[in-house]
Amino acid sequence: MEQIRNEMKMEFQASSSNEGFARVTVGAFVAELNPTVDELADIKTAVSEAVTNSIIHGYEQKGGIIWIQCSIEGRKVEISVVDTGKGIQDIEQAKEPLFTTKPELERSGMGFAFMEAFMDEVEVVSEPGKGTCVTMRKTIGKG
Ligand code: ATP
Ligand code: MG
Repeated sequence: MEQIRNEMKMEFQASSSNEGFARVTVGAFVAELNPTVDELADIKTAVSEAVTNSIIHGYEQKGGIIWIQCSIEGRKVEISVVDTGKGIQDIEQAKEPLFTTKPELERSGMGFAFMEAFMDEVEVVSEPGKGTCVTMRKTIGKG
């Protein structure tokens, strides 16, 4: 069977009011693969976590632009969430469960752990002062 690639890109303000918009939009885009309720919930939660991180950590709630690029190839979904915010000093440390740089905001440090649990792969590219790109991949329909 020929595998046709489908792709979408979105750009929006880093405001918490757009978090729901982002997760629903990505969910609607991947719906063509007929994901299960669980698979869809996993993708939406992972997108929410990455977007929330860009809003709260990347731009420290001062606003900015978030880009999401999403592609479907066969049954594989790839989602990148990009900001040009403050970036991450130590990516390995940031990914550790319970690690947070904002305990005062009652963050629990579980965002990356959720992304890794809900998606097949999570790749983080980040440079302090430049921004962060989180790419997540998941194959739909693995059973
Ligand atoms: P929670 O997600 O449970 O509310 P949290 O956001 O602190 O808490 P993670 O999502 O796992 O936890 O992120 C861990 C740390 O990585 C953050 O505390 C922050 O320091 C850093 N981080 C994550 N995403 C970004 C980003 N887009 N820009 C800058 N720093 C980030
Ligand atoms: Mg988080």
